[in-house]
Amino acid sequence: MELEEQYKRLGISGKVLEFGREIERSLRERFDSIDETAEYNQLKVIRAMQESRVSDIHFAGTTGYGYNDMGRDTLEEVYARAFHGEDALVRPQLISGTHALTVALWGCLRPGDEILSPVGKPYDTLEEVIGIRDAAGSLKEFGVSYRQVDLLPDGSFDYENIRKAINEKTKLVEIQRSKGYATRPTLSVSRIGELIRFIKEIKPDVICMVDNCYGEFVERIEPTDVGADMIVGSLIKNPGGGLAPIGGYIVGRKDCIELASYRLTAPGLGKEVGASLGVSQSLYQGLFLSPTVVAGALKGAIFAANVYERLGFPVSPSGSESRHDIIQAVTFGTPEGVIKFCEGIQAAAPVDSYVTPEPWAMPGYDSDVIMAAGAFIQGSSIELSADGPIKPPYAVYFQGGLTWYHAKLGILMSLQKLSDAGVVTL
Ligand SMILES: *Cc1c(COP(=O)(O)O)cnc(C)c1O
Repeated sequence: MELEEQYKRLGISGKVLEFGREIERSLRERFDSIDETAEYNQLKVIRAMQESRVSDIHFAGTTGYGYNDMGRDTLEEVYARAFHGEDALVRPQLISGTHALTVALWGCLRPGDEILSPVGKPYDTLEEVIGIRDAAGSLKEFGVSYRQVDLLPDGSFDYENIRKAINEKTKLVEIQRSKGYATRPTLSVSRIGELIRFIKEIKPDVICMVDNCYGEFVERIEPTDVGADMIVGSLIKNPGGGLAPIGGYIVGRKDCIELASYRLTAPGLGKEVGASLGVSQSLYQGLFLSPTVVAGALKGAIFAANVYERLGFPVSPSGSESRHDIIQAVTFGTPEGVIKFCEGIQAAAPVDSYVTPEPWAMPGYDSDVIMAAGAFIQGSSIELSADGPIKPPYAVYFQGGLTWYHAKLGILMSLQKLSDAGVVTL
C-alpha cells in the first residue's frame, strides 16, 4: 500500500501506523464537528474582510513613522470586526504575546491599582511583568499590586474568595483562557462569560482582560462576545495562521485600546504611527487561513490525547473532553518520556528535522525547558511544536500543526521514538 510506504520511508513502523489508524477511525465524528466550527469561523473572517473593503492596496507597506498606513489601519478594523470589539491594535511592533499583554496591562494600570487573577497563577512570563517573581521594571516596582485566587480543586471558580479579593483598588482582572504550563483545565468562552458577569456585578467598572493565547477560533465565539473588555494574543499562534512572521493583537473597548496604544508608541502618538514595513499581507492572509489551520491543530491535539490516553498516560484535556484551546498536555512522569516525545516532534518537521532538541535554561522560565520546533517562523507555536519544563510531573505541552497531516505525522513519530526507547509498548 503506497501511503504505508510513505510513512515507512519517514521512519514510521507498521505497528505505530496501525495503532494510529485505529485511533483516527474512532475520531471521525469529532473531526466533522471541528470542520464545522472552522467553516463558521472562516465565514466570520471573510465577512469582516468584506465589510472593511480589503483591497490589494492594503498589502503595501509603509516605512519610517508609518503615517496614514491604510493597510495597518484596515487590518485593525478587520480584527475588531472579526473579534467583535470596538477597536484593535494589531502590530508587528508587538513582538510577542507577552509583549502584547504587557502593553495592555501597562496601558490601563496606574500606581495604586491592583490586578486580580481569579483563575490561579498567570502564564510564566507574566510573573516577571507583574512582579510575582521579582524583576527589574515590573508593574510591582511601579506600585501596582497583585492578588490571585486559585481555582478550586475540581477546577471551578472560587466565587467566595473572588468576591473577597475585589476591593477599591482592583482595576483590572486578568483571565487566562488557556492552561499554559499549568495542569488546570482550559476555560471555555462561556465559563469566562460567567466569571465576567460575576465580577462586573460586584464592580462594574473593572477592566476584564482575557489572555486569549491559543484560544482563537477554537470555538464559534470569543471572550469579547461574553463581556471581555480586552482580548490579547500572539500572531505567531492561532490568528497569524502560520503566515504572520511576527506580531501581537489587542482587541476590545475603544478607551482600553487607546490607552494601550499610548504605551506601545508614546503618549500623544498612539495608533497614528507604526510602519507596517512589508508584513501586512502575511497578517491578512494568515488571519484568513487561521480558522482551518486551527482546525488542523485541534485534530492533532485530540489525536494525541487519544493515543497517549490509550497507552495509560494522564492527558489533559482527556481524549473525549470538549476543547477550548489547541494545547494538549501529556504527563509522562519521567524526563525521558518528555525528551523522547519532543525528539519525535522535531524529527517530523519540515525544517530542522535533523537536529536533536535538548533541555536549556530559557529566559522567563524557572526551570530547564526542552522545545521541539521545526518551524518556518522562529518560535511559532501554531506550527507543530512541543515543549516541556524538565520538572515534575514531567508533562509535555504539545500544540500546533499547520496541517492535520503534519500534526498526525508528528504524533506518530513521537510514538515511534517512545516505543524505540522502550518507554511505551504497543
Ligand atoms: C504563549 C502564551 C503567552 C505568551 O506569549 P509569547 O508570545 O510566548 O510571549 C501568554 N499566555 C499564554 C496563555 C500563552 O499561551
